Amino acid sequence: MEQVAIRTCASYDPELVYEEVKALIDELGGMGEFVKRGERVLIKPNLLSAHEPSKHITTHPHVVMAVARLCQERGATVVIGDSPAIDSFQKVAKKTGMEAVSQELGIPLVEFSNPRPAPNGERRVFKRIEIASQIFDADKIISVAKLKTHSQMLMTLGVKNNFGTVVKQRKAEWHSTAGTSRDLFASLLIDIYLTVNPVLTVLDGIWGMEGMGPTNGSPVFLGFLMASRDAVALDLCCLTALGISWKLFPVYRQAKIRGLVEPNLSYKELYTRISLCSATKGFKIPKLDSMSVIPKGLEAISRRYLVSKPVIIDSICKGCERCLTICPQKAIRKQGNKMRIDYDNCIRCYCCQEVCDFDAITFKKGFFLKVTEKIF
Ligand code: SF4
Ligand code: SF4
Repeated sequence: MEQVAIRTCASYDPELVYEEVKALIDELGGMGEFVKRGERVLIKPNLLSAHEPSKHITTHPHVVMAVARLCQERGATVVIGDSPAIDSFQKVAKKTGMEAVSQELGIPLVEFSNPRPAPNGERRVFKRIEIASQIFDADKIISVAKLKTHSQMLMTLGVKNNFGTVVKQRKAEWHSTAGTSRDLFASLLIDIYLTVNPVLTVLDGIWGMEGMGPTNGSPVFLGFLMASRDAVALDLCCLTALGISWKLFPVYRQAKIRGLVEPNLSYKELYTRISLCSATKGFKIPKLDSMSVIPKGLEAISRRYLVSKPVIIDSICKGCERCLTICPQKAIRKQGNKMRIDYDNCIRCYCCQEVCDFDAITFKKGFFLKVTEKIF
């Protein structure tokens, strides 16, 4: 039985996707390994915001539908849930195609709500974590993630998808507290993954997003799907397939520290069994700070000089105020018809860039970072 299954998939044709997702999960022993008759299964896609599936910002509805059908065929009761960053859940459900999936399969959509504290877990760093009550009410969680770049954490794959179980306003609060250091935020992401504990993670990599994701990057055809019981193994296998070292990523460095990186798993061997699309070779991750060259411990205190700052391009900005609404530090204000950032308050979490639909927020490197990058 495979630890991480990977299959090529040429398009989002619903029947093709169903067949490939089924074959993928069969490589892990079949859906019966994960869900049983009568169980309540919550499927957690990436529903960041209200965009059509063709933008490749959210998990494609046909991948979610395939997973839901397989659960139903096993006699499980299925719900689909998430907590979008800023748009209303109804709007997100309609635009992303989840409403259509819900109607076609007769399964409810739930907006995550009523955060509840998770029981203390042995391996957790953060002692108090609150996630949506719907996670505790389900017998099993299946995470259906999207392959995308991410301006703050470089990529969002299986592990990070679980951050969506933090209910709306709490996300901003976490950015304020743990977002001041990428290593700390990475620790939080690992804690949330361990708390949600999905039985299965499926990754929609048929079309992904490269460049300045998770909203304003470029869609890219990659043509594969992945699945695993272990989201860390899945993410590492995916990065290997894309030719990117996982050691660049704070979240997987934290996973290694916590003993979650399987030392004997040959990620390369897994994906070389199939022929992936050539776009996987030159996949572009955000060109931000070379986080590996920033001395440990300096991240928080030297944000101003080391870490890239968000810059609003006035000529592109439409004044929609989404950035102002999401900013956990209240560091953005409107002055006349221009948006202004208070850099003393800004923690460089890049939530503003994540929600800007107009690609009006770019990044400027700190002075010392430029110097450091030249030296190393
Ligand atoms: S989200 Fe983008 S377009 Fe909207 S106000 Fe902010 S910078 Fe301008
Ligand atoms: S201005 Fe942007 S990067 Fe800075 S704290 Fe606010 S949301 Fe985060």
